[in-house]
Amino acid sequence: MTFVVAPDEPVFVAGHRGLVGSAIVRRLEAGGHRNLLTANRQQVDLRDQAAVNAWMDQHRPRVIYLVAGTVGGILANSTRPAEFLYDNLMIHANVIQAARSAQVEKLLYLGSSCIYPRLADQPITEEALLTGPLEPTNEAYAIAKIAGIKMCDAYRTQYGCNFVSAMPTNLYGPNDNFDLESSHVLPALMRKFDDARRSGADSVTVWGTGTPRREFLHVDDLADACVFLMARYTEPGPINVGFGSDVAIGELAALVRDVVHPEASIEFDTSKPDGMPRKLLDSDRLHQLGWRPSIDLEDGIRSTYEWYLANVTGATS
Ligand code: GDP
Repeated sequence: MTFVVAPDEPVFVAGHRGLVGSAIVRRLEAGGHRNLLTANRQQVDLRDQAAVNAWMDQHRPRVIYLVAGTVGGILANSTRPAEFLYDNLMIHANVIQAARSAQVEKLLYLGSSCIYPRLADQPITEEALLTGPLEPTNEAYAIAKIAGIKMCDAYRTQYGCNFVSAMPTNLYGPNDNFDLESSHVLPALMRKFDDARRSGADSVTVWGTGTPRREFLHVDDLADACVFLMARYTEPGPINVGFGSDVAIGELAALVRDVVHPEASIEFDTSKPDGMPRKLLDSDRLHQLGWRPSIDLEDGIRSTYEWYLANVTGATS
């Protein structure tokens, strides 16, 4: 059965300024949606239950995309575990609880592929959840994300709420974080090669050994999958949203280099952590529902770099 959201029904995108939230807003607007609700941190701090309750009572969304949170790459995750736990636990709990009180009809919660055990069989199926120890460099974030999944399931079991969870693989695209200390690998490499090109440097340093493997999904594909799942998915437990194949970090660096600064060479700083050896999702469940990604990695890198040049370097140079 399809869950239909009419263009004028109130839809709240929690986290609309981030990589994922901004892509969901673009996707909903492109689909003709005319009643999007958003709130920035000055209007409502999602870590504050009373503020979230008041906002929800006032705006009464019918549907919520819960994609707000404190996110970051391997360094931020491992050095700021308190923030990653506190912010994310509070945001998820507050929004889910307020959604129940305000009788929101459907909520889509977004997790992360780091919820799965460090040494899970690859590709990783949804059944791998809580079957083994987590990767230490992102344990705090993963614990908060697992709590969010379990909250959606618990609210379904105890209160009958139609709250679902999707687990995206590593994402990239417009509005990503390009700060070298806190970003994920793809935007970090884009920035490093672009900085090298501008300054005339002929080599770029990549963290770790270059051998870990990651799967990358363009955020516009993810947004499309989220809208699809909102309409079509009604089960407890997570559903994976992946691209379907992975690359070694060294290969990714070469792909970004070829687009941004083809003359540069690549060096590896093995004093930096590798993190999980491999993270490739099994997205069969989603494929069987009828959804597939459409943006391949090379095209996605190229278009994201165009966005970066126009929106990041353009604004600062
Ligand atoms: P993860 O998927 O949670 O490990 O998050 P990241 O996207 O931050 O890192 C993925 C992999 O890329 C890890 O093996 C990192 O060590 C590696 N990597 C290589 N260079 C960089 C860099 O400049 N920034 C980041 N964040 N990761 C890098």
